[in-house]
Amino acid sequence: MVPRPAAPAPLAVVQTLVNTRELLEHRDDLSTPTGLVAWAESEGLPCPARPAEADLIRMRRFREALRQLLGSAEGVPGAVSVLNGELARTGTRPLLRAGPPAAEFIGDATTPLDTAITRVLAAVVTTSLDGSLRRLKTCAAEDCLWAFYDRSPNAVSRWCETSVCGARHKMRAYRARQAAGRTD
Ligand SMILES: [Zn+2]
Repeated sequence: MVPRPAAPAPLAVVQTLVNTRELLEHRDDLSTPTGLVAWAESEGLPCPARPAEADLIRMRRFREALRQLLGSAEGVPGAVSVLNGELARTGTRPLLRAGPPAAEFIGDATTPLDTAITRVLAAVVTTSLDGSLRRLKTCAAEDCLWAFYDRSPNAVSRWCETSVCGARHKMRAYRARQAAGRTD
């Protein structure tokens, strides 16, 4: 099995956040304060030294809203409202700078966690505007939902690792056909 390469910057931080939870392994790095600190440090993001339970709940909610956003071509209203709520709460907004002209996203940065969330939101907004966000997807297997970066020419991949989830899907479809008494 060859793992898919990680998403390029700035999407990588969105991918690593979504993948702090691994459904197939029943693992959630954001279930403990040390797990949240470790993820933030690995991404070079600020984080409270001792995150409170409310911080963990907020980050898990933010993360799952991102997972839903990546997983639905139609868009999920609830997920979008969580993300828009974080844009408002953190005061995340674009700022133009002069010579040479450049734009970046800034926030009010009331807390270290606000700053971290602003950076993730900046990546989501920037890549949704340039079109690259559509390549960051969640696996179509409902018990997986792992975030992967789709490098296929037309962005048509559906499974995190074709050799794992794609094969599982084929096996299920095969068994379903067998159970239905078909031999094709
Ligand atoms: Zn998968």
